[in-house]
Amino acid sequence: MSNAPWERLSRRKFLEASGAGLVTSRLAVPTVRAQGPGEPSGRKIRYALVGLGRLAIGQLMPAFASCKHSTLAAFVSGDRDKALKYAAEYGVDPKNIYNYDNYDTIRDNPEVDVIYIVLPNFMHAEYTIRGAQAGKHILCEKPMANTPDDCREMIATCRKANRKLMIGYRLHYEPYTQRLIELAQGGVGQLKVVDASAAFNIGDPNQWRLRRKEAGGGSLMDIGIYALQAARYLTGEEPSEVNAMEYSTAGDPRFKEVEETINFQLRFPSGVLANCVSSYGVSYNRFRAIGDEGWAELEPASAYHGLHLRVSREKSVDEPELPAIDQFAAEMDHFSECILNDTEPKTPGDEGLRDLVAMMAIYEAAKAQKTVTLAA
Ligand code: NAD
Repeated sequence: MSNAPWERLSRRKFLEASGAGLVTSRLAVPTVRAQGPGEPSGRKIRYALVGLGRLAIGQLMPAFASCKHSTLAAFVSGDRDKALKYAAEYGVDPKNIYNYDNYDTIRDNPEVDVIYIVLPNFMHAEYTIRGAQAGKHILCEKPMANTPDDCREMIATCRKANRKLMIGYRLHYEPYTQRLIELAQGGVGQLKVVDASAAFNIGDPNQWRLRRKEAGGGSLMDIGIYALQAARYLTGEEPSEVNAMEYSTAGDPRFKEVEETINFQLRFPSGVLANCVSSYGVSYNRFRAIGDEGWAELEPASAYHGLHLRVSREKSVDEPELPAIDQFAAEMDHFSECILNDTEPKTPGDEGLRDLVAMMAIYEAAKAQKTVTLAA
């Protein structure tokens, strides 16, 4: 067990201690070297957002204001009026607005370093491949693609083009999640069980998330992937076996093509077992790491704000408070630092591929109603 002082503090005492810089110095997003190889000092990496939907408008555009190493430079959108409106709001030069037909000409624009793919899942592979072939680094939203083969092609294309590829797993760059990982890997004794639920009650039955071809699947591809991620990053291992059961409410127009709920169990090589919930029928998210000396949990665990950590050891429960950050700014700045310093992202394409392989095994286990073994 770690002896870090804030682990033993109550929520109130923890806040007092954090005033001395104790928390931020340990848990803040890593800082960059001011200058990477061949990069001018203080240079910001310039992003093009592809797909101006809910995530791009509601989270990513505002996040640039909190970035140290990343700036918004371009849009790719099928709706020029919408792109012009947000260009005016965020100071994007209208000459840096592209559509899906002239997207490839972005190769001629030296004002764009990174293409951030924020499109429906079925478009991730194509726009990643075309973007890398246009000479740009790629940040791609989760799930990486709809099939493992598409993921492999994305990885190979980026490698061939000598461009970096990162998947937008924002929680890896978030202090509460980083703290939960530390606790899972020693802070609660020996980890035995992970309990991870990721669910929301989905609305409009006509959205692309509920169409199999576009989404690649149902709740698992969209939200259950967070429970799978949690099981993988809390153990630091890859699952060796999978069981699963699924259920969709009969007659519910939302679940004509994709699953509503799919619960799955994972066995890890160390012996840790994970119980995971993925659902589009209820709103709930909680990740709990249970060891032989206590447990630690986040609830909510995958929200954009307001994550809440509880740590139970020796019959007392502490509620440490960590700095609130913009998760998307931290994620983008990490990728920018990787480009500036020529290092590999923490969540590269291989990380997205591993999730796709595991999700395919989860679907297979549910369909076949038997345990599926995953290759080591
Ligand atoms: P959205 O439907 O709100 O936006 C998608 C955008 O793609 C829209 O602007 C739409 O016009 C455009 N588009 C272009 N071609 C399209 C087509 N053929 N069909 C449908 N839309 C088309 O979706 P979103 O919620 O912004 O999600 C986009 C991606 O981001 C998804 O892959 C999703 O999984 C991911 N996402 C990640 C997070 C996260 O926390 N990391 C959160 C939300 C969404």
